[in-house]
Amino acid sequence: MIPFNAPPVVGTEIDYMQSAMASGKLCGDGGFTRRCQQWMEQRFASKKVLLTPSCTASLEMAALLLDIQPGDEVIMPSYTFVSTANAFVLRGATIVFVDIRPDTLNIDESKIEAAITDKTRAIVPVHYAGVACEMDAIMALAAKYHLYVVEDAAQGVMSTYKGRALGSIGHIGCFSFHETKNYTAGGEGGATLINDPTLVERAEIIREKGTNRSQFFRGQVDKYTWRDVGSSYLMADLQAAYLWAQLEAAECINQQRLALWHNYEEALAPLARAGRIELPTIPADCVHNAHMFYIKLRDEADRSRLIDWLKEAEILAVFHYIPLHSSPAGREFGRFAGDDRYTTAESERLLRLPLFYNLSAVNQRTVINTLLSYFA
Ligand SMILES: *Cc1c(COP(=O)(O)O)cnc(C)c1O
Repeated sequence: MIPFNAPPVVGTEIDYMQSAMASGKLCGDGGFTRRCQQWMEQRFASKKVLLTPSCTASLEMAALLLDIQPGDEVIMPSYTFVSTANAFVLRGATIVFVDIRPDTLNIDESKIEAAITDKTRAIVPVHYAGVACEMDAIMALAAKYHLYVVEDAAQGVMSTYKGRALGSIGHIGCFSFHETKNYTAGGEGGATLINDPTLVERAEIIREKGTNRSQFFRGQVDKYTWRDVGSSYLMADLQAAYLWAQLEAAECINQQRLALWHNYEEALAPLARAGRIELPTIPADCVHNAHMFYIKLRDEADRSRLIDWLKEAEILAVFHYIPLHSSPAGREFGRFAGDDRYTTAESERLLRLPLFYNLSAVNQRTVINTLLSYFA
C-alpha cells in the first residue's frame, strides 16, 4: 500500500533526542526549544516564537491573548480544520465564515469587508496547502477596522508572500508540527509567532500557566507569581530535539517536497490542458512549500470513482475538509456571510495525492501511472 502520508524522518532525530535525555532536562523551554525558537525568529523574522504542543494550542493561545469574549465575531474561511474555529468558540466567539477563492481555496479577500460588523475582533486567514492568502488586502482591512489578524499557517512553514514568511505577517501566526505537516516535532507540535511586540510579554505569561516564570528564568524578576489567565502551552524538550533535527534539514526537506510536487505537476499537465482535471494555482506573489498536491475532478462522483481506482491499485488518496458551516457545530457556533459560491462545490471535487518527504521515486511513478491509466 502506498500511504497518503508518512511522518518525515531525516535520520538525526535520535541523536538529538539522546542528547536531550542526557541533558537532564526534558520539560519545556530547554536547550532544544531555545534553538528551535531562535532559528525560527531569525529565519522567519518574527519578534518572538514560542514552541507549543500543537497548532491547536497555538490558536487557543492566540484567542486568549486577544481577549476574545462572548459575543465577539471572528472571520475565517469555512474550508479549514476544526481547530481554526474551535479556538475562538472556546472563548465564546461567533464564527463568521466567508467564501473561498476557487483558484487557491483561500479566503476570498474581496468578500471579507462585507462580513465585518461592529462585533468583529479578528480575521483568521488560513494558508491552504502552504499557498499564501492575499495578505496585503487582509492587513489593510484589519488596519482600517482595527482588527487583529491571526494567521493559521499550520501548512505554511517555509512558504512566503512577497518575500515574507507565512506566519510572520499577521499580529500572530500559528504553525503546526503534526506528523502530517512538512516538519514534525515527533508527531505533535506547534509554534506561536508573536509579531506584534506589544503582545510578547503576555504571550509568555499565558503559555506559562498565567505566571511570569519566563521572566524569572531569564533573571528579570526574583520570583514568579500568578499574573493572568493561562494554561500549559509548552512543548516538551524531547520533542523539540526531534524538531531541531528537522529544522536543520529544513532546506533539504523543502527541496525534496518541491521536487515531488513538480513531478506531479509536469506529469498531469496534459490532463489539465485537455480539461480532464484542474491543477493547483500558485499566485505570482507566493512561494509555496509543496505542503500538498491536489487535483480537482469534475464532480464528487468522478472523485469517488478515482479514489476507488487508486485504492484498487493500493494507493491512498484522500479528500479534505467538510466545510465547517455545514457541520453540526459549525451551524451552532457560526454563520456564513454572503454566498457559498465555491466552498462546498470546490471541497466536493478536490483530491489530495500522496506527497511526503520519504515518498520514493518509484512509488510516485506508480501513483502517476495509475492516475494516467484512469483517464486513458
Ligand atoms: C493541521 C492543521 C491544524 C491543527 O494542527 P495541530 O498541530 O494538529 O493542532 C490547524 N489548522 C490547519 C489549517 C491545519 O492544517
